Amino acid sequence: MNIALDWDGTYTRDPDAWRTFIRLFIAAGHSVWIVTARSERTPVGPLPDGIKGVIYCDMESKKSVTDRNDVEIHVWIDDEPIFIHKDAESVPILFPRDDADDGAFKP
Ligand SMILES: [Mg+2]
Repeated sequence: MNIALDWDGTYTRDPDAWRTFIRLFIAAGHSVWIVTARSERTPVGPLPDGIKGVIYCDMESKKSVTDRNDVEIHVWIDDEPIFIHKDAESVPILFPRDDADDGAFKP
C-alpha cells in the first residue's frame, strides 16, 4: 500500500509520532511518501528515515501530480484534504492562514 503523508500541518504537527507511524507501516510492508503542496524551491526536511520519496506538487492538485509520476496512492493523510483534488491556488480562502503555531507552510 502506498500512503501519502502531507508535510505542513500534518507531519510537522508531531514529527515524533509520525516517525513511529512511518516505522510501523514500513515494517508492515507499506510505502510512505511525503506529498506536499510545496515546490522544490522550498524543500521539506529533515526527512524521517524510510520515506519512499518526496513529491512536490507546487500548488497543483496532489492527485494530478502523483498520477503524472505513476505513483498510485491508496491512502491519503492530509490536514487539508481539499488539496488532494484541487489546486491550492484555486482555494485562496485558505491563505493566508491565521494558525501560525502549527508549523504549516505559508506561501
Ligand atoms: Mg498540510
